[in-house]
Amino acid sequence: MTTPVESPNVATSAAWFERAAAVIPGGVNSPVRAFRAVGGTPRFFTSGRGAIITDADGNDYVDLVCSWGPLILGHAHPEVRDAVDAATARGFSFGAPSIAEVQLAEEIVARVPEVKAVRLVSSGTEATMSAVRLARGATGRPLIIKFAGCYHGHSDALLAAAGSGVATFGIPGSAGVTEGAAADTIVLPYNDQDAVAHVFAEAGERVAAVITEAAAANMGVVPPTDGFNEYLARTAHAHGALLISDEVMTGFRVSRGGWQGLTAPAGDEAPDLYTFGKVIGGGLPVAAFGGRADVMAQLAPLGPVYQAGTLSGNPVATACGLATLRNCTEEVYLQLNRTAAVLAALVGEALTEAGVPHRVQTAGNLFSVFFSDREVSDFEAAQQQDTAAFARFFHAMLEAGVSLPPSAYEAWFVSAAHDEDALERIATALPAAARAAAEVPA
Ligand SMILES: *Cc1c(COP(=O)(O)O)cnc(C)c1O
Repeated sequence: MTTPVESPNVATSAAWFERAAAVIPGGVNSPVRAFRAVGGTPRFFTSGRGAIITDADGNDYVDLVCSWGPLILGHAHPEVRDAVDAATARGFSFGAPSIAEVQLAEEIVARVPEVKAVRLVSSGTEATMSAVRLARGATGRPLIIKFAGCYHGHSDALLAAAGSGVATFGIPGSAGVTEGAAADTIVLPYNDQDAVAHVFAEAGERVAAVITEAAAANMGVVPPTDGFNEYLARTAHAHGALLISDEVMTGFRVSRGGWQGLTAPAGDEAPDLYTFGKVIGGGLPVAAFGGRADVMAQLAPLGPVYQAGTLSGNPVATACGLATLRNCTEEVYLQLNRTAAVLAALVGEALTEAGVPHRVQTAGNLFSVFFSDREVSDFEAAQQQDTAAFARFFHAMLEAGVSLPPSAYEAWFVSAAHDEDALERIATALPAAARAAAEVPA
């Protein structure tokens, strides 16, 4: 990776990155943040307000990462801040039942009628890991089917052929995952019904669950083909297995009821378990898994499947999530849909104008840009894109004050705080960035 030219002053970020690298592996606490896929210096951010984020050198950016999705209302939303301030004033953690966790659970159950009960945890990783254990416990079966390019967090069983950072770095799974831990995970191509049918025909009575992103958005945005999720549910059910719909990204971003609310599969075609994260914490660590009452009743202390957490349902984190969800009204979703559509169109126009092969793909209001002219319906196609062109585009946008996810395999995130001003700044930055993407490097 050639080192990009960086015009704004980033000396303070660079100095902190050097200090960070001395005490934190790679200088970061989550790999994608290190900018390895795009080169250059990751910015250290010191504050965020609405759609704008400010780095340690005082440069402002329109934020299209939004903490990878949680900040659906933008940074430091006043009502969410008030709720968090009020919660911290009452204490940080009790390690005992508290009120906000019940209200947050009620809010989730009210948004998704299929979810009869939820257990709160602290990360999406914990949510999917726990849902998989629950599915295995409830069915008494070992096998899990997942799809290549779908990311479900970094638990051992789910790291095989994952998206997100794993896609960015081209790591096939991870060192440190034993054959034993991965042996019960079957990885199939996304959107491939025949592959699913084949595995169920061969080993259906040993499959505990199929886990899928409600709409894949960690290999770039790749929506399920028409009827794919419903097919997964019917097929799993026909063999006594469960469907886990991972809504950690889509949950309460694409609609008031998440992907479930947007597509409304019912009865035999509805998932059995759902996982949530990101938006439900509003920027603090909250995630959840939930679903069918009979399955959730298998969890300790009611049933034999153990699952726990010192900080699960933390009163400050759940206050943040609850205030965030309560402010996610129908108007907010309409506005997010509009903003995402306008932005996706602007990006497409700029890249077309500069002659850059690309595809803008959407799933509800989620979208991402593939630097490729092929339609992308699975991970193999996603990997055909020109990541070097993306890196040039990324840096030109950053120089112009727009912070994109530092990888071609990630969705772009808008918030309700992305107003006309923010869109205007992005529109101004796009033409030069599209030309940079088009340049064939010397
Ligand atoms: C982000 C994400 C996860 C993991 O959540 P963490 O909070 O990062 O552990 C799991 N599944 C999906 C679909 C995600 O987008």
